Amino acid sequence: MARECLWNKDMVKKLIFNLSNIYAMDLNEFVVNIAIKSNQNTELNYFEILVTIVLSQNTSDRNAIRAFNALKNMVKEVTPKNILAIDDGSLKNAIRVAGLANRKSDILKKLAYVISSKPEFFREIAPLDVEEARKMLLELPGIGFKTADVFLLLVLKKPTFPIDTHINRIVRRLGIANPGDGYEDIRLKVVKFLEGDVDSLSKLHMLLIMHGRRVCTSRNPKCSLCVVSKLCCKIIQ
Ligand code: SF4
Repeated sequence: MARECLWNKDMVKKLIFNLSNIYAMDLNEFVVNIAIKSNQNTELNYFEILVTIVLSQNTSDRNAIRAFNALKNMVKEVTPKNILAIDDGSLKNAIRVAGLANRKSDILKKLAYVISSKPEFFREIAPLDVEEARKMLLELPGIGFKTADVFLLLVLKKPTFPIDTHINRIVRRLGIANPGDGYEDIRLKVVKFLEGDVDSLSKLHMLLIMHGRRVCTSRNPKCSLCVVSKLCCKIIQ
């Protein structure tokens, strides 16, 4: 029996707590964390990390990681200069495993071109307020809401909430999002529930993706095994 669908801050915290108890936070599941880790002994290469997030669009993190490694093997350091120096065919071949190779290679070339002409771009957005930094990221070629929000939350540690297909599905089933809510409604609602706490927002983002991969799957969600069943409105379409 579904409960009444009213959420509050404490329930969202409980959601994080219950999910944390079953999913070991394996950050290596997420391509962006692997990219951050590969930079750990040097200053963060923001361009390289943004490239990995673009590679992860519309594919699994596993394939994005394979494409990222192939690209890294080819250029050693993923910089705008090195991306512009590769011919289109080699770039497409390196990233093919991540799918949409034509589109993604085109985005990477355009991004490399724009960032090479604005080398201070990442340093300029880092101190900005989240919405101002987001506006500037969204002006870059191929950068949509989700890519911008992943970069802002997980890399620049700013309070926003990226919504992928798993999260979009689960927050509707849980009743956190209303049927008519769009990306921005959900993002702002979750940020408000968690009072802009970056650590909680990052955890919730990753935990919901894990939950969507393992339990609250698109088809046949395993509600009888679900640790957040009591919180869930089970709006399953
Ligand atoms: S698996 Fe079922 S109970 Fe759990 S979050 Fe998804 S819809 Fe709700």
